[in-house]
Amino acid sequence: MKRVLSFVLAAFLVVGMAWTGTPAQAAGKKLIAITYDDGPSIYTPQLLDGLKARGVKATFFMVGNRVSTYLSTVERVYQEGHQVANHSYDHSDLTGLSVSGIKNQIQSTNYQLDKVCGSGTSYMVRAPYGSVNSTVFQSVGAPLVLWSVDPLDWMYRNAETVKNNIINGAHDGAIILVHDIHPTSIPGSLAAIDYLQKQGYEFVTVRELFRRRGVSVQNGVQYGSCKSTGVDLGPVEKPVITGEVENGKMRVTITAQSGASVYYTTGTGKLNQTGTRYTGSFLVSTPCTVRAVAAFNMNGSRSETVEKTFSIPAVKNPRLQMEENTLTITCATAGAKIFYSLNGGENQPYTEPVALEPGTEIAAYAECEGYLPSEKVRASYSSRGNFFLDVLADQWYYDSIDQAASLGLMAGVEKNRFAPEDGVTRGQMITFLYRYSGEKAGETALMNMPFEDVAPDQYYGPAVAWGYENGIVKGTSETTFRPNRGITREEMAQLFFAFLRYRGQVEEADHAGNIDSYTDAAKISDWARPAVGYMTSISLLVGDDKGAFRPLAGSTRAQAASVLIRMTEKIETE
Ligand code: ZN
Repeated sequence: MKRVLSFVLAAFLVVGMAWTGTPAQAAGKKLIAITYDDGPSIYTPQLLDGLKARGVKATFFMVGNRVSTYLSTVERVYQEGHQVANHSYDHSDLTGLSVSGIKNQIQSTNYQLDKVCGSGTSYMVRAPYGSVNSTVFQSVGAPLVLWSVDPLDWMYRNAETVKNNIINGAHDGAIILVHDIHPTSIPGSLAAIDYLQKQGYEFVTVRELFRRRGVSVQNGVQYGSCKSTGVDLGPVEKPVITGEVENGKMRVTITAQSGASVYYTTGTGKLNQTGTRYTGSFLVSTPCTVRAVAAFNMNGSRSETVEKTFSIPAVKNPRLQMEENTLTITCATAGAKIFYSLNGGENQPYTEPVALEPGTEIAAYAECEGYLPSEKVRASYSSRGNFFLDVLADQWYYDSIDQAASLGLMAGVEKNRFAPEDGVTRGQMITFLYRYSGEKAGETALMNMPFEDVAPDQYYGPAVAWGYENGIVKGTSETTFRPNRGITREEMAQLFFAFLRYRGQVEEADHAGNIDSYTDAAKISDWARPAVGYMTSISLLVGDDKGAFRPLAGSTRAQAASVLIRMTEKIETE
């Protein structure tokens, strides 16, 4: 059974390679990893220039206490796709340390490296002097990396000798040890790379050397080289960024090879472990540049960064205005042509203001050569004569908001905008009831109000004073009302209950028992139980589709309008 399975897998892999166009001899490709220890140093940028010119990815075992001095160099190492790795904090011989001493050396270095690579990054470790024992293996919490080629560059300090020693030791799957703190090691190792590339070697990070050969490395195990396994999974393929126009924006899709994660940015965000991970297509406003990278591991096992600019801007959205039954549409993009439709009918070119009957739904967009079409903008001219840019006839709250606006209970947040999904504050909610009452707060009510955070000249000032005088609201303490805090559902229940009681419209009885049907009844505060029970019994507030009341959840303006209108209907039918 097992044999059959591995045969099938092998066959699948071969087929997979044929599809992606990887040459059949890929499995025989000579891979080699060059590593640089003890840096970063003032010589590292020069080395990075040389590696970049040669298309080589290397691995840098850094000493933690040097990282903050050379932070921009570490940043460059990481962003250019090299592998960042850990070489202890101060180059101590780890075998002389306790378990906590070893962990401290590793973790304090990781902490420094995370500043560049992002928290959650995994770093391979090379013990200083290659010196390890069983305590090191048990404490290090990462794969340990030794080497199989040591040119003794720290001793010879001669570029030609370093070059020759690397070349003489090189073999397929080798891990080469060099130090980027010696000026002679930079030209020496680059010259060796030139020679070995001509011999057919491909330079990869340590992580890629093992991944490409299908070897998974384990924490607490030391690796000195990676012989050919007959497998080469190939380099991480670049992701592909595509875009499709959607309603005045660009819908961006990024695809990558199976098993790889994609990280992307649409602005100045960093492409690192804590950057944005792609989980599905997203919309951007143009012009916009998207950068993305595909990774099996962002630290040392990732593709080149791909960049795509969506440069064509969209036409500015048309602006709809309504004055005295007449619709006017304008567009800020010069030369744009505007189209509109009424009640879902045909699009027609807009040439002059249009007279409309109440009860009309409007849609409009604009086009212009050299631009993407604008978003389709919708608006509603209600049967009650309200003009809304963000409340439409097919929304569940349409009628409640239309009524609440017509009755003057709720005003828009700005002209023709109602912000139905915005939350309602305590100050707003009492204001809605105050307006409905038609009453006015007297001088004494304003003077007797004890709340230090409610100024009488705020729009909610008279409402809070009126509510307090008539026992409809209480403060959050004796001297505070917190008018700008979102109202909770149990507070809302209490407020409506107190208002209806003030109006003499509550049948006094024990209402608290009505809350037992809620799955979260135990979470309802004691003081709110009679109110929630009463509101439930008259169906002004009901639970969610899972049977929960959610006493501490907030309320949107749309929900508040709906409760308010149902309350007025109940009062008027009694
Ligand atoms: Zn070292």
